[in-house]
Amino acid sequence: MEKLEKRIREDGLILSEKVLKVDSFLNHQVDTRLALEIGQEFARIFAGRGITKILTIEASGIQFAMAAGIAMDVPFIYAKKKKAVTLTEKLYSSEVVSFTRGETYQVSISQSYLSPEDRVIIVDDFLATGAALIGLVDIVKQSGAQLCGVGCVIEKSFQEGRGLLEAMGVEIHSLARIASMKPGEVTYVHEAEAAITARGEEGAHV
Ligand code: 5GP
Repeated sequence: MEKLEKRIREDGLILSEKVLKVDSFLNHQVDTRLALEIGQEFARIFAGRGITKILTIEASGIQFAMAAGIAMDVPFIYAKKKKAVTLTEKLYSSEVVSFTRGETYQVSISQSYLSPEDRVIIVDDFLATGAALIGLVDIVKQSGAQLCGVGCVIEKSFQEGRGLLEAMGVEIHSLARIASMKPGEVTYVHEAEAAITARGEEGAHV
């Protein structure tokens, strides 16, 4: 998504070769128009697939799942990281080992909101190690619902998440795929691929 890539370049803060801060427009202060456009993009990608529910995880996936839910006219469910006193029903739960935060936590949803008749997509802000998304995939499996794919806003393609999810047979659509980054510089996957192709063509002409 060109607009998103441009915005990451302009307003993203690359804290290290692994951590990108997008607090000013995506996951602390939220540019609501951009969030809605992100939802519309997910709706376009998964159009015609009969999606009935969107699953995400609190907190920073919520605004994108909501935007996609509005665009697709379906409800979204967000997995909770802490067991609230109101979560009294039977739960689907999975353990997430977060390398980013250096902790292990349980994610849960009520069994009332996902069933084998559902066709589900999972939406989240970042795909990094894949741990959070793997936990959500596990929850969809427990429910017997059909997982139709995963939509990520930003994928750090140099981390292992995509590979792990693909090995599980999960279809992944990320709106901005980062091949590499360092403070002040970000390279997207399509740019890295174009550079390789250009070098190949140059080589062929020598
Ligand atoms: P995972 O490693 O499980 O794929 O990512 C877990 C969560 O950590 C993501 O949903 C996201 O909220 C957060 N995260 C991972 N990498 C980054 C990053 O580079 N920047 C920000 N802002 N959050 C990240």
